[in-house]
Amino acid sequence: MSTTDRSMTSMNPDGVETVAHVANCPGCDQPHHYFEVTFPLENDRGYWEVNCSKCNELFVIELSNPRESDGNLSRQIRARHEEPFDGDRAVVARDVLQHNIDLNRNSWSFNYSAVSLYRCAKDSSNLEVLAKHALGANIAGILAAYNTAVNYLLKGGADHDIALARVPLTCSCGGKHTATYYARLALGTESGPSSEDDFLLADVSGAMMEKTLDGVVSKDEAMDILEKLVIRWNLLADQILIVAPFVGSIYLSNEKQLVIWRWLLRMLNAEKSVFLTRGATYKAYKQAMEADGVPVDLLEKF
Ligand SMILES: [Zn+2]
Ligand SMILES: [Zn+2]
Repeated sequence: MSTTDRSMTSMNPDGVETVAHVANCPGCDQPHHYFEVTFPLENDRGYWEVNCSKCNELFVIELSNPRESDGNLSRQIRARHEEPFDGDRAVVARDVLQHNIDLNRNSWSFNYSAVSLYRCAKDSSNLEVLAKHALGANIAGILAAYNTAVNYLLKGGADHDIALARVPLTCSCGGKHTATYYARLALGTESGPSSEDDFLLADVSGAMMEKTLDGVVSKDEAMDILEKLVIRWNLLADQILIVAPFVGSIYLSNEKQLVIWRWLLRMLNAEKSVFLTRGATYKAYKQAMEADGVPVDLLEKF
């Protein structure tokens, strides 16, 4: 398993610190992820008025530097105030947690060198490599279309958060397939996709996935396949249900279980993921998270 752990607390040379946070809607407990910025000397304490992404009710997140802080929920922010909130405390988000889990879904990529999930149903050719070549050959046109779409949306189009690219390819057996790629739309200040590496492969038509999934594979290969499936599910599934303990086992130490937890949490779309686990396993995971100082409350919301 290739897991790179990067802390989501970052500091730039001027001493400006950016820390990942999650705050739950006081009405329905839906988690909302954002980044809080703090400056070395002067910080404005204030708050955001946010529309909950689930129940749509307005609630308040109290934080420093409401103008500079931001993140994935920026389109749900209705107003940014640079003074303390003095209204009804019932609408203020509880369970505001700092965390080190990287939920920036643009930060990971599709691993073409790992065991392949998408193989031609006729001749077992690796369709992922063919898809990548097809995407690379068309990338200039795709990026131009992406930029046109972003400019249109910035002028006030509907709410969208995903850009899709469908690319035709021909297998060595002569069969025709279509690869579906996606990238998160980056509006405003965030930087969007700049090369084929920024697009994630979610599907190739005419692939034999069942056969691949039924095979006997090593643990590392199983994790590689799971990673590709999560990339697929984040786009295609209405809800992602992870049933533990199919990852990790009672033979793994708390520390190793934590690595797997983190790895999964980092990839899953938090808005549509649910973790189910048996009582004993859940307790072990919880202990592993607590031992590492990772907020357990966050996990319970998934
Ligand atoms: Zn809500
Ligand atoms: Zn083929």
